[in-house]
Amino acid sequence: MEQIDELRARVARACRVLGRLDLTKAAMGHVSARIPGTERVLIRARGPGELGVRYTEDDQIVEVGLDGELRAPNGAGLKSPIEILFHTEIYRRRPDVYSVIHIHPPTAVLFTICDRPLLPLYGAFDPKSLQLVLDGIATYERSILIDSPELGQQVARTMGGALVCLMRGHGISTAAASIEEAALAAIAVNDLATMNYQAYLLGNPRPISREDQEAFRDLERAPVSENGSIPTGRPGALWRYYCAVTGADTD
Ligand SMILES: [Zn+2]
Repeated sequence: MEQIDELRARVARACRVLGRLDLTKAAMGHVSARIPGTERVLIRARGPGELGVRYTEDDQIVEVGLDGELRAPNGAGLKSPIEILFHTEIYRRRPDVYSVIHIHPPTAVLFTICDRPLLPLYGAFDPKSLQLVLDGIATYERSILIDSPELGQQVARTMGGALVCLMRGHGISTAAASIEEAALAAIAVNDLATMNYQAYLLGNPRPISREDQEAFRDLERAPVSENGSIPTGRPGALWRYYCAVTGADTD
């Protein structure tokens, strides 16, 4: 029980961080986490009393099975979000994934609307977000709500083994080895999109050289979390920074 409560608190905290960074508005978005060693996940719920992703509290996180159905009753009328079914499909397909995040960040969504690719425009400025574009970002071409098992499978198939998937006219999804790594990927793709957007506005965005792209592709990556645990090292430090800067731990 203690382990689930701790996981619940981490899901809620990630919601608050992403909401307070203005990466999604109102109730549009959900963070989920696999409960290690089980066929169940925790996910931000929808309910009559909800305020929005940035105000998520631990008691708004519900437990569901891989069929998307609630596993534990609650007295607050909470339900799993409609789009739970692509979270569960990703968990079914990718045992390495311990967290899936889906949000609607406007700047990233602009790149699914306009015929402009995300380019590798910088290097040492922010290697982590550069590596997203070097590694390959998937794109799901439909703009509808993912509200059936078939559509859930379609999204999971399109995403393949990618860390990030853009969803045309809709939002983004990330899938990673921990909640914090999935959230950091969502923040990074927004940073990448923001810099690309500003560069396109200024004019003539120019990718960095092939040689420099290779150098960052080969740069040693931080080891990923095991069994969904909180990352250590650089990702851990970066996550503490975002928790502090958003006040997500303290209020
Ligand atoms: Zn959505």
